[in-house]
Amino acid sequence: MLFHCQREMRTGGHCGLGPRVVSISMAGMKTDRLEVAEIFRSIQGEGSWAGLPCVFIRLAGCNLRCRWCDTPYALERGQSVSSSDLVARVEKLGRGLVEITGGEPLLQPSAIPLMKRLLAMGRTVLLETSGALPIGQVPPGVHRIMDLKAPGSGECAQNLWQNLEHLTPRDELKIVMADRKDYVWAREVVLERGLDRLCHAVLFSPAAGLLAADELSAWILEDELPVRLNLQLHRIIWPERDRGV
Ligand code: SF4
Repeated sequence: MLFHCQREMRTGGHCGLGPRVVSISMAGMKTDRLEVAEIFRSIQGEGSWAGLPCVFIRLAGCNLRCRWCDTPYALERGQSVSSSDLVARVEKLGRGLVEITGGEPLLQPSAIPLMKRLLAMGRTVLLETSGALPIGQVPPGVHRIMDLKAPGSGECAQNLWQNLEHLTPRDELKIVMADRKDYVWAREVVLERGLDRLCHAVLFSPAAGLLAADELSAWILEDELPVRLNLQLHRIIWPERDRGV
């Protein structure tokens, strides 16, 4: 099902990690259509917007296969939907934030005009992106939440470090980590590159089921790092659901 009015029951755990699709070829797609995994309204669970109502447009397809991916259903192709239909659905679902997420939204060229359209409507637009594709084309009014992939993800080599040059105080960086080794890597990146000065917030997230929040919190406090602990509020509110939240 594409459009989730509210919640669906959990249908699976962490990513089954099927064979990598390096590119869901969008070359033949019309520019006003997007491949969509789901659209729904929920509570924003992460980052500095956490706790606010938000409409999520989850685009389908991803060129990465992170070990702890929690949206395996969004890794392959989705349902083709026109921008106009998506915008109408957003308006019907309610006011407030709109987040374009995935999968990897920037694989689809039509995501850029969609973001512009939503901004023109006066919506506050957030974009979640893996950090493996260039972010320079994203409209300036969009709040970008960009990942840096830690070694434990299996996709560390895909980090596009040049993206750091495009970050503004509007943006956030997120690093998910599974263990102490990932934390040490993230700590070095934060300190060596001054990540906290490049964007609004640096988010340190424990990978669900792999790293305890209290353990990560103790490390952050011990090192006095200029980062925020980032827990997935929606997983706390709806622990049995993995879609539509
Ligand atoms: S980038 Fe995001 S959607 Fe893609 S595999 Fe990694 S966690 Fe999953």
